[in-house]
Order: sequence, then structure tokens, then C-alpha cells
Amino acid sequence: MGDTGVRKSFDLDWERDYFFIDTSNGPECLICEKVISQYKKFNVKRHYQTHSNELANLVSPIDRANKLQELKMKRQLNQDGEVITHFDVFVFQS
Ligand SMILES: [Zn+2]
Repeated sequence: MGDTGVRKSFDLDWERDYFFIDTSNGPECLICEKVISQYKKFNVKRHYQTHSNELANLVSPIDRANKLQELKMKRQLNQDGEVITHFDVFVFQS
């Protein structure tokens, strides 16, 4: 209870574009499990780019989608922090 007015603005595109998922701790990198403390695309993207070498072979959207599924499956097996599933996304900024 209390103030729940903290606005999280996890963008679902970050899953597909940057291999990040939303958790109760913040956006989390599916590749190295690093949690970014802020819901900022700049930070997420910057972190993603540190993995560009290991992801260089994922060229097609299907490859990326498969990799995302694989990483999400793994993530669910070793849970550490609740994964937040978004059924709807509110966008507070454009
Ligand atoms: Zn990472």
C-alpha cells in the first residue's frame, strides 16, 4: 500500500531490441543478468551495445526472436527477482 505513483516505463520493445526484461528490481539484461537501475532507453541501449560482439550473428528477426525465447526460458529457471509480465504498456512519454 502507499504511494504507487512511481512510474515505470518499461518499453516492451526493449525485449526484442535489447534483450532486456522487466523485473521487480528494474530492467534486467537477459544476457548477463545485469539490472539497470533506471527505466531509460539510453541506459538500456548502451548496455546492450556492450554485448554487440556476442550478438553479431543474430542478423535476422527470427534469429533474434529465437534467442530472446531461449534467454527468457533460462531466466525463468533461475529466478532471482520477480519477472514482471506486461499485458499492457502505458506510455508516459513519446
Ligand atoms: Zn548484459
